[in-house]
Amino acid sequence: MAKVRVAINGFGTIGKRVADAVARQPDMTLVGVTKTQPSFEARRAAEKGYPLYVAGDKDPTAFEAAGLKVAGRLSDLLAQADVVVDAAPDKVGKENRAIYARHGIRAVFQGGEKSDVAEASFNALGNFEAGRGKRSLRVVSCNTTGIARAAAVLRAHWGVDHWEVTLVRRAADPAESKRGPLNGIVPTLQLPSHHGPDVRTIFPDLVIATTAVVVPTTLMHVHVNHARLKRAPADAHEVLEAFRHSPRFLLFAPWEHVEGTPQVMEYARDRGIGFNDVMENVLWEEGLRLDGRDVYFFQAIHQESVVVPENVDAIRAMFELAPDGPTSIAITDRALGLTTAPS
Ligand code: NAD
Repeated sequence: MAKVRVAINGFGTIGKRVADAVARQPDMTLVGVTKTQPSFEARRAAEKGYPLYVAGDKDPTAFEAAGLKVAGRLSDLLAQADVVVDAAPDKVGKENRAIYARHGIRAVFQGGEKSDVAEASFNALGNFEAGRGKRSLRVVSCNTTGIARAAAVLRAHWGVDHWEVTLVRRAADPAESKRGPLNGIVPTLQLPSHHGPDVRTIFPDLVIATTAVVVPTTLMHVHVNHARLKRAPADAHEVLEAFRHSPRFLLFAPWEHVEGTPQVMEYARDRGIGFNDVMENVLWEEGLRLDGRDVYFFQAIHQESVVVPENVDAIRAMFELAPDGPTSIAITDRALGLTTAPS
């Protein structure tokens, strides 16, 4: 079968990572990426040999003046692709949707868009089958992806009666120098926060309430979870084993001395997959407690990368390139060099 040709529109935090991930897949070809203006990221695209196109109605001469070769405009890129991954800033994807429709091209949108931007919201562990054959999908946000993955595991093993999550959110991505807070803890006063309803775009029947605070860090989000399960696991070890044997989870044992997100990111730098990312949900073994049907646990989510494998699986679901979710996830994770779950 011919490889699916993938275009990336928006080459920032998410787009550049998805571009690398697509380029590594055995069943996909990266046909090009767009930039709105010359930048160090445009330079990196050129250095990696990714054909560079001009986004929107921007001026190609600025690229040429910077010595960057431009292969054409967005419309030229879309003409060569089977699917576009829209990784433009929040709400711009909705505007781009009309362009994609005019080109008759399939599209994957990101979590900064409202759910009605696409035919369905998507999470590979949560609802792979819902993406099958679709012409448009929305990969849910980083926090929603993290919760949906954990929900997929808990629901499959014991069922979830109800769930409360407090999200401790990073203030900005590492490259953002104009966002805060720099010194403060800012509660999200909307109660519950939007994350719970967003998780229900994946699991419509899940009873979940979320609250959130923003803190001055760029490293990761941390979720503080309390889920009441429908059936009681035998012990905490059984719950840990369920997470350990699921793809897209990375557990740290007490002897590893991972006190918090700084050591998680240091582990990521040691492991050294692309961008030193952590695309898995990170759990602390010590930080999971079971009390009857009540499970309490922490998980850390690397906001810049957790959705990257989900974008790849979304494409595979749309084009029915894999017989099921677990097969797609295994292909994606092998290509990305992610830790594979023990069988
Ligand atoms: P970003 O600002 O890092 O990158 C967006 C890129 O799109 C920039 O390079 C920008 O120049 C470019 N762009 C601007 N207008 C454009 C247009 N009209 N057409 C094409 N490109 C355009 O943003 P990001 O963090 O990568 O976010 C992209 C999407 O991913 C958003 O929906 C966001 O909510 C979502 N998301 C972000 C994170 C995160 O932590 N950064 C996590 C999960 C999901």
